[in-house]
Amino acid sequence: MISQRIHALPLHLANQIAAGEVVERPASVLKELIENSIDAGATQIDITIEGAGNQLIKVSDNGNGIHPDDLALALSRHATSKIHSSEQLSHIDSLGFRGEALPSIASVSRLTLASKQPDQDCGWQVSSDVETVEPTAHPDGTTVSVAELFFNLPARRRFLRSDKTELNHLTTTLNRLALSRFDVGFSAQLADQTTLKLPAITDPKLFYQRIARICGQAFVRQARYLEQQFEAIHLHGWVGNFAAHRAQTDVQYFFINGRVIKDRIINHAIRQAYGDALPAGRQAAYVLYLTLPLDRVDVNVHPTKHEVRFRDARLVHGLITRAVQEALTQDEHGVVSQSEL
Ligand code: ADP
Ligand code: MG
Repeated sequence: MISQRIHALPLHLANQIAAGEVVERPASVLKELIENSIDAGATQIDITIEGAGNQLIKVSDNGNGIHPDDLALALSRHATSKIHSSEQLSHIDSLGFRGEALPSIASVSRLTLASKQPDQDCGWQVSSDVETVEPTAHPDGTTVSVAELFFNLPARRRFLRSDKTELNHLTTTLNRLALSRFDVGFSAQLADQTTLKLPAITDPKLFYQRIARICGQAFVRQARYLEQQFEAIHLHGWVGNFAAHRAQTDVQYFFINGRVIKDRIINHAIRQAYGDALPAGRQAAYVLYLTLPLDRVDVNVHPTKHEVRFRDARLVHGLITRAVQEALTQDEHGVVSQSEL
């Protein structure tokens, strides 16, 4: 075998390899863009999807915007405004921090980033195929347009499923993020003609309106509200009663410090609370929010940040099981159900 010499990968190729981890499908792009909008303090996020995300994924927000001098940097690898030092890695309070999403997405699509900060006279934009930053008309905030996803990676494109499946993934992603922040308004045009509107809600008594839109009226009608605190760990949310199990995991939403999380320990804790009432193969329904001090949970486990590592997993497991169990076994009248207010 001929021994090959070592060379550094060209930047574009390195970005495409990183994109393999972050950008699995159109829904992954949508997740990263919405998370960036939330991190930018947006109160309204507008989404347009064409061709189930293969043709276009466009996300506009009214957040802080990006300084024109930073626009090109936002598309380069490991560039972020969210952390500065390794100490901050143990106290991450933003959804993003790796500085990987935009360069990864830009390396596998035709991406345009347009933004205006309130103190700028006009907006500025940069594209993945044009190096220069150009002026453009844009209201305060940011718009990211991702066109022709995977146009330069035919193999990846072939892995995409039917439009229907990709649209389902897009909807799931939107639902999760919409349930993570009631105070942010969303509008989304996912398929032709239909626009989903979720107005911002600041009054907790009205949260059930958004939950009903996303999880269905039936869930809201029977769901039990729970709220428990142990030291600095706080859990609240809604769980379906013993009879409300489902065939799918489609109404399982768990958030840790505002981040969508899929975690085996949490799944197990909730299943345990239902015990035998949850037949094999059936799934519980829940929308739960856990908040705990930032240094008690490590979110830097996987590029998509769907997984976490708890500093005290057993404590969290116990707290969740107990809280859900109590909510389920209390007699109906003893339950303060926010959904009934
Ligand atoms: P990360 O979110 O991990 O910092 P990204 O690649 O997703 O990395 O984004 C890079 C940077 O671009 C962010 O740190 C942020 O400063 C800026 N940015 C991206 N999207 C937006 C947005 N919608 N509004 C304001 N700034 C944004
Ligand atoms: Mg990001």
